Parts: sequence; C-alpha cells; structure tokens
Amino acid sequence: MLYNQVQDLKGNIRVYCRVRPFLSNQSDTKSTVDHIGENGNIMIINPHKQGKDARKIFSFNKVFGANTTQGEVFADTQPLIRSVMDGYNVCIFAYGQTGSGKTHTMSGPDIKTEETWGVNYRALNDLFNISKSRTSVLTYDISVQMIEIYNEQVRDLLVADGSNRRYPFQVQLCLVSVNCTEDVLELMKVGQGNRAVGATALNERSSRSHSVLTIHVQGKELVSGSIVRGCLHLVDLAGSERVDKSEATGERLKEAQHINRSLSALGDVIFALAQKSSHIPYRNSKLTQVLQDALGGQAKTLMFVHINPEINSFGETISTLKFAERVS
Ligand code: ADP
Ligand code: MG
Repeated sequence: MLYNQVQDLKGNIRVYCRVRPFLSNQSDTKSTVDHIGENGNIMIINPHKQGKDARKIFSFNKVFGANTTQGEVFADTQPLIRSVMDGYNVCIFAYGQTGSGKTHTMSGPDIKTEETWGVNYRALNDLFNISKSRTSVLTYDISVQMIEIYNEQVRDLLVADGSNRRYPFQVQLCLVSVNCTEDVLELMKVGQGNRAVGATALNERSSRSHSVLTIHVQGKELVSGSIVRGCLHLVDLAGSERVDKSEATGERLKEAQHINRSLSALGDVIFALAQKSSHIPYRNSKLTQVLQDALGGQAKTLMFVHINPEINSFGETISTLKFAERVS
C-alpha cells in the first residue's frame, strides 16, 4: 500500500543506496559516510577538504547503513517483487564499483545460510509462496532464464551442453520451468558453472559482465481462464569503476569501454523514463535492449546503488552517488 502511494508521487523508479561495512581485515575505519538521515539522505565527507565545503548531501528513496541486514533490505523490496505475481514487469539492479557489495545484495555471501540470502533467493521463495497461497484461484507457471552480457555479447548461462556458445541477441534464450526455490538454486549453480571461464578468473570476469537472472511468471485464473504475465529481472551489473586509460590496454581497455558505455546507456534510459521523455534510447546497449519490455510503461524499476565506506574510494563513491541521483 505504502509502496504504491509513494510510487504515484515518484513514478515507477526508485533508488536505494546501500553502504558496505568495513571489511573485518581493515584497520582503517575512517569513513567517507558522515551521516545517514531517516529520510533517505546520506551525507558524504570529502577527506581532502575542511569545514562546511567538505560535506555533501545526496537524497534517495532510502539509505541502508552498514549494519542493515539482508532481511531488512528485502523487507523494503518485497512489495515490488510481489507485484510481479499481479502481472507487472520489474527490474532490480545492483550498481556500484567492484567490491561495494552488489553480489552480496543480490545473491548474498553463502547459499547455505538462509539468514544471509540475498534478494534473489528471497524473491524466489516469496514468489513460490504466493503461488501456493493462490492455488484455489490461480495456477502459476514460473520459469527462469540466466544470461550474462560481456563485451556487448549476450551469453545464455543455462545452455544444457555447457558450451561457451554465444548467442546473437535475437535467438530465443533457454527458459527453464521451475517448481520450487531448490530447482532454481540448482539452475543457478549450473549457470555459475557455465559462467566460469576458469575458476580463478571467475571473480574478475563477474565484475566485468552484467548478469541477469529473469523469472517469468504466468498465472491463469481458474474461473475466467484469463492470463496474467509478469517478469522479474534481477541484475548484478558490472563494476562501475573508471579504468585509468593510461594503464588499461588491449582486452582490458575494450572491456572497460563496453562497461562504461552500457552503464551510461542504462543511466540514460532510466533518466529519460524519469523525465517522461518521448524518446527512450533503448537501442544504445545490449543490456537496455534485453530489458526493454521491463523498463518503462507500467514496469517498475529499483536501483540499488552500493558504496564503499573507505576514504580511498571517495572518488568512486561520489561518481556512484551522482549517477544514482541523476536517475532518481
Ligand atoms: P561486488 O559484487 O560489488 O564486487 P561483493 O558483494 O563481492 O562486491 O562484496 C565485496 C566483499 O564485501 C565481499 O567479501 C562481501 O561478502 C563483503 N560485503 C559486501 N557487502 C556486505 C554487507 N552488507 N555486509 C557484510 N559484508 C559485505
Ligand atoms: Mg560481484
């Protein structure tokens, strides 16, 4: 209820900021986050300046401080996810520099501990629970897709043969029917396996590609036979950090340029939607093309922007917050 009220005022785009805690092996605990307000404000302090000029406030729909639990984050995401069962298309993005907590928010650190589950698993559980609770009125089909976008190429992570085939964008991607969260966990393992280009390179690679987990939901009303369709895209974006052009060469430079371009294209699309612009520039990146049906119109978008608390991340933190403020 509250979500819908806020949404009417704000349009269909919401931005939540999440601050990563200091990591346990860090001794330097001086933070760039000066203060977090109840009303979605966050005050950042510039370590290189003194006095009033050193502080800058950014405003979002919500700010989650370093102590926020996965459960608390999900509680503020759940209404949006539930609307998928009523036929809405929803996109949830995790944005931020590498190491800022994107994968933590979306997947969580450990699949085995339910308490630390990220948005993905909690969302799936919730969708299956709703499906079960409505069986007297509706029957739902739930299916899953998993893709990776790397250097502007779409790769299906659920291809059964496990090959590294790359698909042109138009090809129908593998869609797998699922009955419970365990099914999806199994599939996600397969997907992660297909993603690995060599185990040690996985982390590296995952920070330079966008991963998109899509849940398609189709409900059929038992009495009327009418159909509701919705989908949920859960997107762990490539790291937003700027790469020093003087240092990066070859493959690394190419990757960096692709990431830069697609993240700006995403920013431009969301900005255009927020401005209710008549032209939405979906065609400028694979990511926005793939997600086109779930961005704009009645669709709902939630962007989690992640920041590091460390002083040496100050530059990236400011550019992340500026990106986020533009689209909110
Ligand atoms: P990213 O996906 O943005 O590169 P990760 O999610 O891998 O970043 O997070 C980097 C490290 O910080 C990981 O070790 C992760 O477990 C830890 N981390 C991130 N966010 C949190 C959090 N909110 N609470 C505890 N640890 C976190
Ligand atoms: Mg990650």
